[in-house]
Amino acid sequence: MPETRILPVSSDHPSANVIDEAAAILNAGGIVAFPTETVYGLAADAFNENAVRRVFAAKGRPGDNPLIVHLAGVEQVSQVAAKVPSLAERLAAAFWPGPLTLVLHGNGMLPAAVTAGLDTVAVRVPDHPVPRDIIIKLGRGIVGPSANLSGRPSPTTAGHVFADLQGQIDLILDAGPTHIGLESTVVDVTVRPPVILRPGGVTREELEKTAGPMRIAEDLALLRRSPGTRHRHYAPRAEVIVVQEGGQNALDQNLSDLRAGGRSIGVIVRTLNVESTSGLRVVRAKGSVESYARLLFGALRELDGAGVDAIVIEAPEERGIGEAIVDRIRRAARGGNPI
Ligand code: AMP
Ligand code: MG
Repeated sequence: MPETRILPVSSDHPSANVIDEAAAILNAGGIVAFPTETVYGLAADAFNENAVRRVFAAKGRPGDNPLIVHLAGVEQVSQVAAKVPSLAERLAAAFWPGPLTLVLHGNGMLPAAVTAGLDTVAVRVPDHPVPRDIIIKLGRGIVGPSANLSGRPSPTTAGHVFADLQGQIDLILDAGPTHIGLESTVVDVTVRPPVILRPGGVTREELEKTAGPMRIAEDLALLRRSPGTRHRHYAPRAEVIVVQEGGQNALDQNLSDLRAGGRSIGVIVRTLNVESTSGLRVVRAKGSVESYARLLFGALRELDGAGVDAIVIEAPEERGIGEAIVDRIRRAARGGNPI
């Protein structure tokens, strides 16, 4: 068991010493948690099969759930993917670096563990100087699944990573809370029209402006293309109850039912009103839906850590980044997709 160190790192100008150290650990087959603009990721050298296996083991991630390969720029895509369709090139030009993952045909160079044996590979270029500098120093792509225990909310701070993976990983690079707070949007561009396998940091509206209409992976056949979407996800221990924006009556009714049942309660709201009474823990996300996205996973962890029996969450309207927020809230409420 390695001792897990936490090293502070600047998200504007990461120091060369820190980058060199992280790259050296990866080069030697170690694993390192790193900040991105979405959530914290867990890096290993994508071409080192043993290191990749350590990532699965540390997270307790099922082996049939493939990893996203993180690259420093579009010019590195040829390390892992076969010919890139022009539509993917357009999406990459518009959204990289950024919270968009593209599923492409693989070129057979990666260890099978990375892609869970699929002939496709998921790639993204994160918009953060820490992974960019590490990948440039290493000279090749890194895997970067979210740095949480499988089934827990993704980590948006180094503290969340430490809570889940202490003793399992070598190093955590701490650049403070992540900016977006939700994972990347995953788009399969090996099919026409492209399929949004997971809503995320880039909205469907933005994608369709660049690449035309897309399908959403709602039916079973499409979901099977992205094994991770089938697994238990974002699930707090508490029961999760969802109320809609505008659903003040539903919120009040749920709270009074829970109180009558003697349950300890946590609430996450943005626009709805909650009276702070004793025994009720309230996280208020005042402001934009973007700030709600930033706060959601931390709030789930905080309330779950406080040991409440039930968490009542306000779901925003399902458009823009709201689509990804609602997706994560639904998964939290049902303990993942039961398929
Ligand atoms: P995470 O690593 O937690 O951000 O999750 C990565 C997501 O990308 C999961 O939902 C995976 O199923 C999905 N993914 C990774 N590689 C592929 C691939 N080759 N084809 C389809 N989905 C993928
Ligand atoms: Mg994850």
